[in-house]
Amino acid sequence: MIRSFAFTLVFLILASTIVYGQEYELKTSSEIYQDLKKLEKGMRVLYVAAHPDDENTRLIAWLENDQHIETAYLSLTRGQGGQNLIGDEKGDGLGVIRTYELLEARKVDGGEQMFTRAVDFGYSKSAEESFEKWGKAEVLGDVVYGIRKFRPHIIITRFPPNRYAGHGHHEASAILAEEAFDLAADPNAYPEQLKWVDTWQPQLMFFNTSSWWRKELEDKTAAELKEEKIHRVNIGVFNALTGLGINETAALARSKHRCQAFGTDRDRGERFEYLKQLKGEWNDVLFGDVEGIWMNSPEHQQAFTKVVEQYDFTDMEHNLQLINDLIEPKLAQRNMWAEGKDIGYVTILIDRIKQNLMGIRIEAFSDQDPIVVGTDYPITIQVYNAHETEAMVRFTHEKIDTTVIVAGGSQIEWTETLTAPDLPSTPYWLRNEHDWLYDVPLSEQSALPRLTDELISYSIRGKGRSAGATELHRKWRDRSIGEVIQPMRFAPLVGLSPESETIILRSGNAQTTRLDAIAFGEVKQLSEVSLSGDDVEFQAKGLSKGQQTSFDFKVSSESENGQKHSVNVGVKGSTESGEVSYFDQSFQLISYEHIPEIQIVKDCKINVITVDLKESSGRILYLDGSGDEVDDALIRMGYSVESGALAGKTAADLSKYDAIVCGIRSVNKNNDLANNIELLHQYAENGGNVIMQYNTSYGLLVEQFSPYSLSISRNRVTEEDSEVRILDSKHRVFNEPNKITLADFDSWVQERGLYFAGEWGEEYTPLIAWHDKGEEDVLGGLLIASHGKGSFIYTGISFFRQLPAGVSGAYRLFDNLIQYKP
Ligand SMILES: [Zn+2]
Repeated sequence: MIRSFAFTLVFLILASTIVYGQEYELKTSSEIYQDLKKLEKGMRVLYVAAHPDDENTRLIAWLENDQHIETAYLSLTRGQGGQNLIGDEKGDGLGVIRTYELLEARKVDGGEQMFTRAVDFGYSKSAEESFEKWGKAEVLGDVVYGIRKFRPHIIITRFPPNRYAGHGHHEASAILAEEAFDLAADPNAYPEQLKWVDTWQPQLMFFNTSSWWRKELEDKTAAELKEEKIHRVNIGVFNALTGLGINETAALARSKHRCQAFGTDRDRGERFEYLKQLKGEWNDVLFGDVEGIWMNSPEHQQAFTKVVEQYDFTDMEHNLQLINDLIEPKLAQRNMWAEGKDIGYVTILIDRIKQNLMGIRIEAFSDQDPIVVGTDYPITIQVYNAHETEAMVRFTHEKIDTTVIVAGGSQIEWTETLTAPDLPSTPYWLRNEHDWLYDVPLSEQSALPRLTDELISYSIRGKGRSAGATELHRKWRDRSIGEVIQPMRFAPLVGLSPESETIILRSGNAQTTRLDAIAFGEVKQLSEVSLSGDDVEFQAKGLSKGQQTSFDFKVSSESENGQKHSVNVGVKGSTESGEVSYFDQSFQLISYEHIPEIQIVKDCKINVITVDLKESSGRILYLDGSGDEVDDALIRMGYSVESGALAGKTAADLSKYDAIVCGIRSVNKNNDLANNIELLHQYAENGGNVIMQYNTSYGLLVEQFSPYSLSISRNRVTEEDSEVRILDSKHRVFNEPNKITLADFDSWVQERGLYFAGEWGEEYTPLIAWHDKGEEDVLGGLLIASHGKGSFIYTGISFFRQLPAGVSGAYRLFDNLIQYKP
């Protein structure tokens, strides 16, 4: 019983980083050798930080590939509050992208990945603010759980537990790691977890400090460092097994954080990392007296040492024989292990190694896209025996019990029928609605980066014995690519996609909106749209698989300014069998080349926000930045919005626009804008109105983007409810067409703004002052300058968050910016 329990538990951790299209591929002999070296070492490190991209891939790559230490990165959050530099996804969608980017990075550096339930709510200045939102006890419990589950001998933090960490979440990660180090071994701490995991005491704790914080570290002598309990290690070593320097591997891993623009050069040669010891006894040798999983059974470790020494890089049968002769008899003496809790972990790793040494490749896939929930579907199972000895493989699953014999050098395949689950695929942490903590019940699956889709177990008998499980996926051929492999996707029979999830309405008005419905199977008819229980009849439409249709309907508002209500949207229909169903789930497909395709399914809702806006009309040219939805919000307000380029246009061409709005980070991203910045200024000079949203000072494509001197700072106001001071309430921008009052700054989300102007010429007038608790007022959030007959506005106000979130005051203020006349 203990064995099977441990087996599932560890399998889930290992399986969590299963790489689509890779984990079932046979490993190279170098990779198998690395796996054996890790088993021989028997040591684990948990690296703790706050966001996807915080982790030091250099250290992780070095620990995994040079030191042969199993390393996991525990990220408090999934990074959903950050910015997205490759697409429009924000919030939950962005958290999905960043989760999978982390998994891609771990595939490169070899580490494992874990998370807590903490939601990234954006920039936070202090750990206290973060704890207030998350609940400290909850996230601390999750870190304790992570330690109890991964059972690290060493914990390493990325950040110091103070303001030098630079971000409240960073600071929090260090504080939590330190407290959890002591709590994980205490059976009275979070006892409810002990149903799933055992207590665990790590031996050492380090802070992965760096010369980024402390320049002088580079010049310190070994003795000086020792005095401060700091180890300096050169991680820039070459790894003959991969043919890469460790920092090259690290750069390749780091470059996976594409939505954060973390692409980096492949660095080679000496590179130092600093580890300041926080807990445990000092040893001059880094990890010198750490006792790994073999501490009470050195003879097991010696057996692995022999296997490693006698390993033959070209003769897998010889290597399998070594395992059979040297390791198997030792594993049979399980009761001699003092650290018996690690038996599941060791058994799984050995089973994987043996399967690879036997040359048995097992893959199970479906070629359907997607599969409707609750329906039967065929899958193909392939078994390839790469070596000479015949092998027998038995497959077991709720619906499968099949044994096959595969001759040496041959591949066989056959089909089986499975039944799709009743729930559609969606990231498990998004199944329930959440606030600042994902609503995921405690279970043995807690902390996992993702849950595995359908698993099919198998056992193998050939020259050796092995057991494992393979994860079902989708696979098809694309003539321009070759094999395409994607995770399983179970979809509702009908998926909905509202044209707009947020509708802005003036009080007493109604607006027509559109709902797209796509059938993933055969639908006899769809006839009624239901809006929060009120049915709107439509002409019945039948849909066959893959067909799409749309319904236009009206939503109205009788509410007052700032009020929100949400409308649950569903479609009634009947299936082929005549059964009447109600489809009320929307779906979103996240599809990028560098990560697997992931579907998010949730209840279909439209948020209706009543905003007291004067009628707005006019033409706007929107110049794209790094991706935002401000242009969609402008359309909702009634403007006619074109997106386009400046190149090829003249000042006269531009004069037809009432305003030109630059997307966030446009001067960092948009070469067309940078090359034609003079034209933009000329447009303003001739009477146009330019509204430039925030840019970062680092990586400006053109330094002088403003007609007058203006520099960008890192000033931001992160408290969304911080006090606001309107500096000139008579200014036109606060009066026309909408009268702006302090009430318009209520109910903002995440923050007030970021990358405010730091210094500006006297041509600019600052209009708002605000500050976070305990700080000085900052003024550079909204600046307006007259330029010729027109105007140039720079704003760090996070309209790109407020408008999609339906903040009425932000709509009213932005409307005034657009209609501003000097
Ligand atoms: Zn971070």
